[in-house]
Amino acid sequence: MAPATLGSVATNQMLRRRVGPSAAAAIGSTNRSGGIGWMMASVKVNKARPTRPAASAASMTACSHATPRRPRPPSLGLRRRVLLGRRLPALGMGGGAEGAVLDTTALLHWPLERLAGGVCAPSQLDELERLSPARRMLIEAAQLDWMNPTSSQLDDAKSAAAATGDLPRLSTVDLEVLALALGMQRVLVTDDYRLQNVAMQAGLEARSLATKGAKQPWSWVWRCTGCGKQHAVQTDTERKRDGPGPECHDCGSPTVMKRARR
Ligand SMILES: [Zn+2]
Repeated sequence: MAPATLGSVATNQMLRRRVGPSAAAAIGSTNRSGGIGWMMASVKVNKARPTRPAASAASMTACSHATPRRPRPPSLGLRRRVLLGRRLPALGMGGGAEGAVLDTTALLHWPLERLAGGVCAPSQLDELERLSPARRMLIEAAQLDWMNPTSSQLDDAKSAAAATGDLPRLSTVDLEVLALALGMQRVLVTDDYRLQNVAMQAGLEARSLATKGAKQPWSWVWRCTGCGKQHAVQTDTERKRDGPGPECHDCGSPTVMKRARR
């Protein structure tokens, strides 16, 4: 082999190991003849060695797009960050899931054996699919009880969540998980402060995975931005992650969520 060919083979091998943001640096530091020259040499090498076409594709990609970007999956916004951003569960929390209703955080982070006997809503599988398709496939093999809450269990969950004022900020999956725990009077495992709050005030035991858990129960109201009057959260309130509440009954101004004064 000619010395030039040896050089570009070495570069190709480096690139195969270092494709990514550092690839450009690798080219710069190892190439003696400049970017274009390197590419020409690379083509020559691959012509001479047609049995390894992959090297060509990899090096061309690395050269023209040093940091290829994958299209982002549809965002779940805050909930995605809340669920994925958790540290691993504290080892201190003993016991498995037996009989407990598990929020999606547990499905994401607990080992499969620990999940055995837990209760979940099928809608959580769709949520998992959006967060981590690989994890979803694993979870399908876990020994979980999949249950849909009844409509009366859902109504009870809405009432309990409206009573604390948390209802407008709960997702449909949150509500279903809450409805199962309330309906069957089971322990609820969740890191979501709102779910912990509603569960505790409804007399349920709420266990958290990684966070310390809600200490003081709280409640929320809609406070009018015009006249300042407080309005309780109704069970038929619109649920969304943020934004203003319904208009004030008295003056028609927008309302915002505030902690209720005690
Ligand atoms: Zn008002």
